[in-house]
Amino acid sequence: MFGKSRMGRSSVGRMLLMAFLVIAGLPAATGLLGWVELQKVARNQSNVIHETIPAIAEVRGFTEAISRVVSVAPELAAVTSEAGRQERTAYLLAQVDALENSAAADSGLVQAKADVRAEILRLDRLVRARLILNMGQKARLQQGLAATTELLEIADTLVANAQMGTSAVIANLYDMETDQAGVEPRLTMLDKLIEVDLFQQGLMAELRSNIAEIGLLLNRTVGVQRPYDLMQLRGELTSRVEVVTRRVQGVKDPVRARRALVLLQMIRPSQTPPPDAEDLFNLSQGIIDLSFLIVQAQRDLRQAAAQLEAAAQTRAEQIYARAVQAGGEATLAIRATQQLYTWGSIAALGLSLAILWLYVRGNISRRLDALAQMMRRLMAGQEVPRIVPQGQDEIAQMEAAVEMFRLQGIKNQRLEQERHENLTELQRHRTELQALVAEQTEKLRGEVAAHARARQQAEAADRAKSEFLAMMSHEIRTPMNGVLGLMRSLGRDGLTARQQTHLQAARTSGEGLMTILNDILDYSKIEAGALTLVPVTFSLEQLLREIALLMTSGAQEKGLVLTLDLAPDLPPALVGDMGKLRQILFNLVSNALKFTQKGEVRITGQEKGGRLVIAVQDSGKGIDPKAQQRIFGVFEQEDSQTARQYGGTGLGLAICQRFADAMAADLTVQSTPGQGACFTLSLPIVLGQIADLPVPTEVEIEPMPALLVLAVEDNEVNQLVLRTYLEEMGHQIRLVATAEAALEILPTAPFDLLLMDVNLPGLSGTEATRRIRALSDPQLANVPIIGISAHVQPENQRENIEAGMNLLLPKPLSLERLAMALRNLKPQGDTDPLRLAMTDMGTARAVELAQMFLARLPAALAEITRATDAKMLERAAHQLKGAAGNFELPALVRQLQMVERVAQQRGDPAQVLAALGTEAARAAQRLRAAIAALNPVAP
Ligand code: ADP
Repeated sequence: MFGKSRMGRSSVGRMLLMAFLVIAGLPAATGLLGWVELQKVARNQSNVIHETIPAIAEVRGFTEAISRVVSVAPELAAVTSEAGRQERTAYLLAQVDALENSAAADSGLVQAKADVRAEILRLDRLVRARLILNMGQKARLQQGLAATTELLEIADTLVANAQMGTSAVIANLYDMETDQAGVEPRLTMLDKLIEVDLFQQGLMAELRSNIAEIGLLLNRTVGVQRPYDLMQLRGELTSRVEVVTRRVQGVKDPVRARRALVLLQMIRPSQTPPPDAEDLFNLSQGIIDLSFLIVQAQRDLRQAAAQLEAAAQTRAEQIYARAVQAGGEATLAIRATQQLYTWGSIAALGLSLAILWLYVRGNISRRLDALAQMMRRLMAGQEVPRIVPQGQDEIAQMEAAVEMFRLQGIKNQRLEQERHENLTELQRHRTELQALVAEQTEKLRGEVAAHARARQQAEAADRAKSEFLAMMSHEIRTPMNGVLGLMRSLGRDGLTARQQTHLQAARTSGEGLMTILNDILDYSKIEAGALTLVPVTFSLEQLLREIALLMTSGAQEKGLVLTLDLAPDLPPALVGDMGKLRQILFNLVSNALKFTQKGEVRITGQEKGGRLVIAVQDSGKGIDPKAQQRIFGVFEQEDSQTARQYGGTGLGLAICQRFADAMAADLTVQSTPGQGACFTLSLPIVLGQIADLPVPTEVEIEPMPALLVLAVEDNEVNQLVLRTYLEEMGHQIRLVATAEAALEILPTAPFDLLLMDVNLPGLSGTEATRRIRALSDPQLANVPIIGISAHVQPENQRENIEAGMNLLLPKPLSLERLAMALRNLKPQGDTDPLRLAMTDMGTARAVELAQMFLARLPAALAEITRATDAKMLERAAHQLKGAAGNFELPALVRQLQMVERVAQQRGDPAQVLAALGTEAARAAQRLRAAIAALNPVAP
């Protein structure tokens, strides 16, 4: 499969490569041929340039040399000195010889040059010969002229002699006259004078003139150029010489005559032809002949030069012809190359088109198109005929692949069909399965519901347990309250000492029992998950002082010293659940006092490592190390002996531990048996604002003048509380239940103060205050009014103060707060639904109990209103009545009693139930107000 694929690939690759080679090869080959051709042209051109340029320079050199030869040749011909001849000849030969090297190649040129050289040498020879003749001629002319000069001297002498003879004759003649001796001699003498002396004198003068003429003729020979003129001159000279010779022969002076004849012989032209006689005329004749020959030689030289020039010209023409030929060849070659390119390109284009058409289009595109169409049809799910691969190339492979694809498609279609069938089958199964699952789910749901019911039942049982505990505590606490109250009232009457002791023991037992009940109640609350933190801003120092103060009397009773040792740098304001912290500390301090017989109990407070550390150290019996961990467990005590001796439930520390956990605090103990124990509570510090701290309460009540107080309070319990507080402080009190009654009674007595509950039935305390302030009698209108309300938020404060109240005190009203307010002549007074519970179990527990009651109330009411039968109704009402009995909520309790009675008598509960709703809401409202008032900053 792979081998085949490689082969196929190589075959298409080969074909494409071949196509490429053919398409690309043709222009390449054309280019190569053209390149070779152009290379040749370039070479030719280069050769032509290399040959032609020197040759042209050479020809130009020839022409210049020849023109120099032609111009200098006449100078050689006209030269008059040997030195001039040599110089000219050497120059001319040098011109010719300079041509030798470059012209060597051409035989015609060599011959022409040799001819020019020969002509120059010939001319030189002729000129040289003429120079020699010229010298001879000059010498002969000098000789002749010297002879002529001597002859002239002789002639002059002869003329002078003749003249002297004549003169002497003439002188003689003059002498004879004086002597008178003879005429005759005189005459003879005259004759002789005329015939001889004068004649002689004439002859000599003629001789002299002829000699002078000879000198002139001799001088003329040098300038003669034609042979004929020379012959004439020669004849004339010869005849003159003949004449002079004849005259000389007649001269009587023989010496001079002989000398003259010798001289004349020297001057006389010879009669023999030249080679034999070297006389002036022969020489001159030779010079004339040579000049003629020189003219001829010059002509020949010119001719030879012209021939040389012609040869050089011929050579130049040859070179030009070659250059022209080379140019023509180059043009032809370039044209051929152009044609080659043109045809090559046309052929390549044609070939490319042919290959594209025949191979690429015919063999590739067409097949690919066909394949693409097949693929499209296959994709569209159409029927496609079998595809047979053509050849071995890639397309054939693709064709094979498409064929496989096609086969796969057919298979897929079959599979799809099967799948569809399977799917239908599956669908059916699934539907069945769904039905099954639904059935199972339904079953399961039933089971889950059963589980939920079981859980609900378990939870209900758990709740029932908590409720049972709460109910039990109530059921026991209510009679216990009664018992304790009875015992307290007994205490007020005068009893015998023994009775007092018994009474005290009974009270102690009762209070112990109450503590146990409270612990159980607390713990049942924790177990029910109702442990929530109620953070408030508080002063730790104040809290610890309060605890210490409250515990001091107990300590003193046992002869113990209770000390409080606080670090000076404790944060003034903290945020936390003060109630629970108080409960923990109460528990620890009361345990310390309980288990210590002598010595001291020390409470310390300090900041350590970013945490607040409060320790309660005692000098009591201590705890066995083995029991130190265990005592934090529920119902755990050190040992049975402890239980027997000290009583208790073993719940206190367990509750403390739970509270500590909830506050992220650590509660630990360190103890050495017999030496005492130290319980340490370490808790995180959350700083609070001093401004948020509640108004400090004064515990001490200072005596003050008795006041007449009018108290407006609808709640009987609160009325009782108010009465108790005020009477305890030594004041007189008039109580009314409504604002309307108060308004009525106000003018009847000189009241010093009005204590007014804000939330009153009918006219509210706020409104009543407004009316009082609006009274015309200033005595009445200005009476101090102190409001009492569970709602003391800033807006409530503002509203009531604006209405005219002097002060608004929070519920529950404390004795201290009221005393302080009265001392400032802004009297106070209060009572609230938590009062009783607070007395029994302390504020914190009372608040918690109230919160728990409030949390349970909606469910309890729902149980009552939804009760399906009288028995259920009676039981539910009874339960809620018991819970409500913990608080001073008489209206609610009364209403619940009515519900109970209606249920017992099987009457219609609708009416009592409606009233119950209102009463319950009011009770809840009052409880919430009481809780809020205990923690004024808490929302
Ligand atoms: P109760 O005090 O009701 O027994 P607690 O949980 O408060 O329950 O205390 C558990 C036990 O721990 C006590 O019974 C006592 O044995 C031991 N215990 C607690 N505080 C002290 C203490 N300060 N000195 C000695 N023993 C103590």
